[in-house]
Formats: sequence, C-alpha cells, structure tokens
Amino acid sequence: MLLLDGKKLADELKAEIAQEVEQLKASGGKTPHLAAILVGNDGGSLTYVGHKVKSCEQVGFRSTLLHLDDSITEEFLLGEVKKLNEDKDIDGFIVQLPLPKHINPDKVIMAIDPKKDVDGFHPVNVGKVTLGLPAYVSATPLGITKILERYNIETSGKHCVVIGRSNIVGRPMSILMSGQGKTGNATVTVCHSKTKNLKEITLQADIIIAALGKPGFLTGDMVKEGAVVIDVGTTRVTDATAKNGWRLKGDANYAEVSPKCSAITPVPGGVGPMTVVSLLLNTLKAAKNEV
Ligand code: NAP
Repeated sequence: MLLLDGKKLADELKAEIAQEVEQLKASGGKTPHLAAILVGNDGGSLTYVGHKVKSCEQVGFRSTLLHLDDSITEEFLLGEVKKLNEDKDIDGFIVQLPLPKHINPDKVIMAIDPKKDVDGFHPVNVGKVTLGLPAYVSATPLGITKILERYNIETSGKHCVVIGRSNIVGRPMSILMSGQGKTGNATVTVCHSKTKNLKEITLQADIIIAALGKPGFLTGDMVKEGAVVIDVGTTRVTDATAKNGWRLKGDANYAEVSPKCSAITPVPGGVGPMTVVSLLLNTLKAAKNEV
C-alpha cells in the first residue's frame, strides 16, 4: 500500500514555489502578495488563516491579514472586498468562510474580482473550470489533482466514485475527474446523502474520493481490493489522550480500508496540507497574470 503523503508533497511544492519567487524577484518581478479577510474569532478559521499566512512567509510571499469584528455589516465587508479588488499591490485574496450568519456568503463571493479570486469560488472561475478554460481551481480539488499527478495515479478510464457534492469539494472534484486534464478522463459517479445502495457503487470504484465529513464512514467492506482512496474528511473528534482534547479523523476507517488499498491519503497529513499549498499556487498564478 502506497501512502500518499500530502505533508511531504506540500513541502516539496513549497520549496519549488519559493525557488520561483526568488527567480521572479531576481528578474525584477513583483513579490506575490496574498490578502485574507477573517471576520470574527471562529477557532477553526483562526487556525486555517494562521496556516495560510505562515505558508506565505515560508515561500517568500507577502501577506496581509484583515481581521474584522464579527459585528461588522455586510455592507462594510463588501466595501473591504471592493478595496482589495482595486488595490494593485494585492495579487489575490480570500474571504475565510464561514461568515457570521447576518452576512450572505454568496453575495460576498460574487463581489470578489474573479481575477483575484484565488480560492476559486466565484461563479466565473467555477464556470471556466467546468469548460476546461484557464481559471483558479478551488484549493482542495487542486490539491487532490496534484497528489494524483505527483504520485502517478492513473485516472484515465478508471471509475471514480466521489462521495459528497459540495461546491467546494465534491462537485468541482467530479468535474475535474471527468474532464480532459492530466488527472481526468475518469468515469465519474457522484454520490450524496440521497444515494441508494452506496456500498454497491463504492465496491465498483477504482478511485474513491470521500468528502462527506462523517468520520470512519467508509469501511473496509465498501472498498474493492487495490482501490485508491482519497480521504478529504477532517472532523474534530473528542480524544482525552490528545494534546488539545481532540483529534482529526478522516471519512475512511483507516485501519480497515488501508490494507485493501493500492494507495491512500492519511488524515491528518494527506489532503489538508495540499489545500494550503494550492492556495499558494493560485496566488503565484495571479502574480504572474496567468488567469
Ligand atoms: P459538506 O458541504 O457538508 O458536504 C457534505 C456532502 O456529503 C454533501 O453533499 C452530503 O450530501 C454528503 N453526505 C452526507 N452524508 C452522506 C451519506 N451518509 N452518504 C453519502 N453522502 C453523504 O462538506 P464539505 O465542505 O464538502 O466537506 C466534507 C469534508 O471534507 C468535511 O469533513 C470537511 O471538514 C472536509 N474538508 C477538508 C478539507 C481539507 O483541506 N482537508 C477542505 C475542505 C473540506 P447532500 O448534498 O445530499 O447533503
């Protein structure tokens, strides 16, 4: 069984990005600059944004964090988005989700200039990805395609079962896997909470992408021998023996599934680190005006 080590791959990609940034600077180009808007003090969001800012430093990017109070109005936030859209110094920016309940996330995402939308959530980018045009692919799906590419996982002609149809993971992943890109050309089945006989479907899969957020959901009896499993799930599960009192659990029951797989991503250390590095890849693209 091949362990698809997202942490190691993310470190390799960061080193490559850092080298490219050095070359850009040496040739008189600009230092890529990522901005992040964080509204409120949600624990998970603070951690994620912290990782993103730290990763920018590691590769030599500039980063700007706008930490706003959760009492701000939607109008105020839209004003901040407009300022970042117009700020020539900023190559790309993200608005960390979730937002407080009184702010409509769709309205905020729609307000981002698609050329600076390095999270790839704006409908223009989603549409371009669907059409196979140059665009920002959202970070988690992009990270998964990098894992498949770098570990030479054959996808062409394979049956890929995606569990989950969210706009940020399942849906874009199914589009990429069925597209004509390097890690595409698969025959894709998308499953969700209304899917019947899920086990019959997953047992036919050469590649399973589990993105439902239910720890240990994918059990050994749902996976055929030799399948590749990409475990996207990251759920905090209470664990008194862990330092923080919780542990991250994936959607696959690792002990049962891994002996049957030809390759699998661990949780933590699989898809998660690749998500952050994908944001850096998109920011580099933005700085080079490639989208
Ligand atoms: P989400 O928006 O909650 O979507 C979950 C999807 O799973 C939905 O489409 C839902 O179906 C489907 N689902 C739920 N129960 C199911 C069942 N019993 N059988 C089949 N499908 C079922 O979640 P998400 O944002 O896509 O995230 C999924 C997981 O990935 C979470 O654990 C999240 O934390 C993790 N994640 C990790 C990263 C990373 O960087 N590692 C990034 C993003 C997300 P319906 O549509 O019918 O409700």
